[in-house]
Amino acid sequence: MKLDVNALRYLSKDDFRVLTAVEMGQKNHELVPIELIDSISGLKHGGAFRSIKTLMRHKLLHHDSKYYEGYRLTYMGYDFLAIRALVARGHISGVGRQIGVGKESDIFEVTNDDGEVFALKMHRLGRTSFRAVKSKRDYLGRRQNFSWLYLSRLAALKEYAFMKALYEHGFPVPQAIDNNRHAVLMSLVQARPMVQIREMAHPARVYLSCMELISRLAGKGLIHCDFNEFNLLIGEDEELTLIDFPQMVSITHANAEELFVRDVECIVRFFSKKIGYVPEQDPGLPYVRPSYAEAAAAAKAGGADGEGGLDVELAASGFQRQHQKVLEEYMEAAGSEDGEEEEGSDDEEGSDEEEEDGEAEAGSSGRQGAADGEAGPRLATGEGEAEAEAGV
Ligand code: ADP
Ligand code: MG
Repeated sequence: MKLDVNALRYLSKDDFRVLTAVEMGQKNHELVPIELIDSISGLKHGGAFRSIKTLMRHKLLHHDSKYYEGYRLTYMGYDFLAIRALVARGHISGVGRQIGVGKESDIFEVTNDDGEVFALKMHRLGRTSFRAVKSKRDYLGRRQNFSWLYLSRLAALKEYAFMKALYEHGFPVPQAIDNNRHAVLMSLVQARPMVQIREMAHPARVYLSCMELISRLAGKGLIHCDFNEFNLLIGEDEELTLIDFPQMVSITHANAEELFVRDVECIVRFFSKKIGYVPEQDPGLPYVRPSYAEAAAAAKAGGADGEGGLDVELAASGFQRQHQKVLEEYMEAAGSEDGEEEEGSDDEEGSDEEEEDGEAEAGSSGRQGAADGEAGPRLATGEGEAEAEAGV
């Protein structure tokens, strides 16, 4: 999906007010009826109708009349709300090129007023696996309020919380800067995904760094669950940065050992097959694979498998156990369909169609309201936007 931030400049404060009204309406409506948008936005003289037209033109809203007439946010509409909030907080002032397309995310380079560059990750849960998930009746049965807005927001909240905590505990991860809705703002890492590398100056050293990282995480009570060459960035000096945390689980997870071993084997495979460095054949290594039992014991000794664990510390960040459960259920349902996912349908048409499926009610969480309230005045539009979202 292209993110046409130029449109940001053309939108008035009324347009944003209406966009926010649709977001609020989606908390308990799959499609928000025009009367409700009109009443939430509180604009006089048909102002809401005018704004809806503008928002439709910029593809920020989608009109649907399948069951009844109504509107909902597109990915881009949701992006705009998040970006605007981050601009209002003074954290970013411009959006640049796209630097990454993950399976369920888009990553952009963004700048602030001082010309510093950051990475902005927009979560798009449901993008590739929505149909798969939707076909899982038991999953949907339990989750009436399945919605990409809600899930993407949870994923971003989790990622932000984990990144922040890991960084503070000295792990090589990007520095988390801010989170709003489905967006995570973080430091830009000057490194390439390890998947692009075929030759290393010191493969044994990098291999051991990977294994140590897996062990250290487990020692803090965490398993990454997607620890592979796509989520490890490698710099000039072959130093590693770990990214991508929405699927992390606690070492108290029922399948912890299996997940730990899977992470380890991914790395063994990558080095053996792609780098041509076979750990088993290197007598110089102190060990080939870290032992799960040892890592689990270390977690226990440090109290990381109980109240002292990072996962417990994280709950204080606003990311709660029930959120973890919602995400785990989604990822289980989505993950089991691997290989059947449609990739590359990322054009305007495709994403719009995917959204067709990807809409339901946004879950109700106090945080959404808080985000709206924070999403305040200033925008890079040059307009006075003071009460933009204040009354909504
Ligand atoms: P996904 O969850 O969709 O897999 P990732 O967080 O793994 O998304 O990011 C996808 C890609 O974006 C990465 O492989 C990397 O190339 C790039 N990327 C993500 N975060 C950063 C960052 N902080 N700095 C530089 N590049 C990044
Ligand atoms: Mg990734």
